[in-house]
Amino acid sequence: MAVVHSDPVRAYGHWIAGAFVESSNGALLDSFDPSTGRPWTRIARGGQAEVEVAVAAAAAAFPAWSALSPRERGKRLIVMADAFEAASPALAAAESRDNGKLMREVAPLVSYLPEYFRYFAELADKVPGEVVSTDKTGMFAYTTREPFGVCALITPWNSPLYLLSTKLPAALAAGNTVVVKPSEHASVSTLELVQVLEASGALPAGVVNVVTGLGPEVGAHLVSHPRVAKIAFTGGLATARAVITGTAQNLAPVSLELGGKSPQLIFEDADLPNAVVGVIAGVFAASGQSCVAGSRVFVQASIYDRFIAELRERVSQITVGHPTDPSSDIGPLAIADQLTRVAGLVSSAVRSGGTVVYGGQRYVHPDNPDGWYFEPTIVTGLDMTAPLMREEVFGPVVAVTPFEDEDEAVRLANDTDFGLAAGLWTNDVRRAHRLVPKLAAGLVWVNTYRVAGPAVPFGGRGLSGYGVEGGTAGLTEFTQSKSVWINTSSDPMADPFKMR
Ligand code: NAD
Repeated sequence: MAVVHSDPVRAYGHWIAGAFVESSNGALLDSFDPSTGRPWTRIARGGQAEVEVAVAAAAAAFPAWSALSPRERGKRLIVMADAFEAASPALAAAESRDNGKLMREVAPLVSYLPEYFRYFAELADKVPGEVVSTDKTGMFAYTTREPFGVCALITPWNSPLYLLSTKLPAALAAGNTVVVKPSEHASVSTLELVQVLEASGALPAGVVNVVTGLGPEVGAHLVSHPRVAKIAFTGGLATARAVITGTAQNLAPVSLELGGKSPQLIFEDADLPNAVVGVIAGVFAASGQSCVAGSRVFVQASIYDRFIAELRERVSQITVGHPTDPSSDIGPLAIADQLTRVAGLVSSAVRSGGTVVYGGQRYVHPDNPDGWYFEPTIVTGLDMTAPLMREEVFGPVVAVTPFEDEDEAVRLANDTDFGLAAGLWTNDVRRAHRLVPKLAAGLVWVNTYRVAGPAVPFGGRGLSGYGVEGGTAGLTEFTQSKSVWINTSSDPMADPFKMR
């Protein structure tokens, strides 16, 4: 079992071909503890040279890994899952230290993530092919699905281990090898996990490599590399556009899990206390740094005042505090820029005529006044043109707006360029089924929010991206189709100048 560092280490290298490797120029980046605003460790600052070495390592490992029987890869993923599970408390602690997420949230999430490895382990030998009936006699045709080769997995800072676990076991089950590029703001848990997986004995060196550093210096080279054949990206819209531009070189297919501006619709027949908890879970969990944050809440006018009063009451009970304090409900934001951005969006909401019903300020923690904390915030009175109604906040801020009827609710919900998730709160089963098809989102939760698991595909529409992670479709994303024609007749080849 690899040691997972609970204490700060001096510096992490890149993980390439089963060992830590320094950058060729020795460059390092600070990794910050968001609860103090101070560096706690350092990571290697990679560049083109490190991308070259890592892609070469993954390419060298591909023939042997892809040649294992799918069943064998599945068995190995089970071994990796067990090692991951055993190390999950320490991995959660490393992630919490690095991105400031509450231990209360991270520990149960990380202990669940081995389930993604077990799910894809079971699917490894179930990649379907098809025998195809054709219009030709004397021909047998079938399709198979094959791994791509070297895949690039690019993850953001808000939930590095979760967003790696939605990709990595699927890529490995399908027979690919990978280079991971974690966010420069939170790379440590990924570097620790890959050590744990390799120490289990099930993951050969070179199958999973990690290159750390800045997006434009590492990610840009990775996505355009001629030997990278597939990219699974989670992050922001501007970066997604840069990734697509990069693939103009290698034409690698891309799956994009981007941000959102997800609506929650609360009807007068809903269970109100449940809906209030669902709204809080949707936008204040993870300090709002969640791609599916339900940051636009639309409430039927007949219950609007009651809803605001109950929401305000519950939010007033939220404790902002240190990530390791079990009484904390909201921790710091993960990066300093986010604090500025969130505060700026709240100020612009006020300038747009909005009312801050609760919160709205940076929170100064008594023990760590430089920590990057922001109060849970409720804003009302905005129309759909306000930046807070259109832009992803990625912080603990919710905008609440009344609606009169179903048509207006759907129109407001769909008035966004994003299309990741939507929440629907109603006890009328007919209404639920009537509205689900009308909501322009890749994911709809009815009378719940933020539920996820390995068996259900996850993916957005519009500017929230394309492609899915999870489910059988999530495995298919990491395979490419091959069609085969076999001539079963002993007839001589026909006229070579005539297509058959
Ligand atoms: P980001 O786009 O800034 O960075 C994501 C990753 O891309 C990082 O590893 C970064 O280093 C890398 N990168 C940056 N420039 C690159 C380039 N030119 N080429 C290749 N890679 C590059 O995103 P972030 O700020 O780390 O994360 C926040 C965003 O992620 C939010 O928009 C959020 O909604 C989104 N997100 C989406 C999901 C989802 O599943 N849909 C989940 C979590 C977060």
